[in-house]
Amino acid sequence: KSQDRIPDSYYNDFDADPSLDPLRRRANATLVMLARNSDVDGAVRSVRELEDRFNRHFNYPWVFLNEEPFTDEFKRRVQVLTSAPVSFGLIPPDMWYQPSWIDEEKATAARLKMEEDNIIYGGSLSYRNMCRFNSGFFYRHELLLPYKYYWRVEPDVHFHCDMSVDPFLYMQDNNKTYGFTITMFEYRATIPTLWSAVREFAERFPEYVSPDNAMDFMSDDGGENYNLCHFWSNFEIADMDFWRGEAYSAFFDHLDSKGGFYYERWGDAPVHSIGAALLARKDQIQFFREVGYEHNPYTHCPAETDLWERGRCSCDPARSFDNDGYSCSGRWERVNGRG
Ligand code: GDP
Ligand code: MN
Repeated sequence: KSQDRIPDSYYNDFDADPSLDPLRRRANATLVMLARNSDVDGAVRSVRELEDRFNRHFNYPWVFLNEEPFTDEFKRRVQVLTSAPVSFGLIPPDMWYQPSWIDEEKATAARLKMEEDNIIYGGSLSYRNMCRFNSGFFYRHELLLPYKYYWRVEPDVHFHCDMSVDPFLYMQDNNKTYGFTITMFEYRATIPTLWSAVREFAERFPEYVSPDNAMDFMSDDGGENYNLCHFWSNFEIADMDFWRGEAYSAFFDHLDSKGGFYYERWGDAPVHSIGAALLARKDQIQFFREVGYEHNPYTHCPAETDLWERGRCSCDPARSFDNDGYSCSGRWERVNGRG
């Protein structure tokens, strides 16, 4: 039996008790989406679904971020979907673009080589900017500074189950730091030297390494090698004060100084994941098994029949990514003493 389920006391029966709607006890949290103006149709679909499945009962604010100004059309299309507060932010250039100390020749050569090798997004500079921004900057954007918790949402994702629980309150009450729904192996070719940079950090700053951390999820040999498991960060419900804290700030600065966001193609998923696994306690990482979530081409669908029924889920548990050979969720259960 899963020990990490959200307890029944967190469920709200909005149908039976209309006075709960909207829920009054709330956390200091926001929904956040990074998007381009060209992502507008997908952004609208994601917001519509999350509003229908969750936020119409909770009214958490939305924050949209972009390194270019959002068009009036983008704002109009998104704002119409919700009665919650919506804000649109411009990302300051120094949070987004390749820093001047990066050796441009070396970075260009790396992009060309990865493009030739057919590594996904291997030739893209904007993808690298995005990964570095998500790894170390979004939570320092002025529109996010007032908030502690966030739920990251991408354009064109799907939410398959009703969420009558407030995941932020659950995180807050239970001192959780990082929540995920899908976990899988990373492409080694995108992060050849990431793990050696992580090991160097852990040796140089042992005081930041958390006791009871989740390193046994990421390494099969006591930290010598990375097994490539990571949380898929296109979905995240997490505590920004953790990213803002001394430990993760030092971790990000150390990684950033290696230039691997540009000389390789380090993703924000392995960076956040390793950061959370190393610098938080394992019990502060939450597998949100209740959330039906799809980001092409993978879906997490609750395997527990009662959760699937209670959520009126539109996904097929038999096709949940948890059952895929490429998933790390079985390992997560094992290192947590389940399954
Ligand atoms: P994938 O999920 O790894 O395939 O990458 P996506 O293309 O979905 O990008 C991840 C997130 O960053 C999505 O929310 C995108 O809308 C956003 N994104 C990606 N590239 C850019 C960019 O150049 N500018 C902006 N503003 N957002 C971007
Ligand atoms: Mn995506």
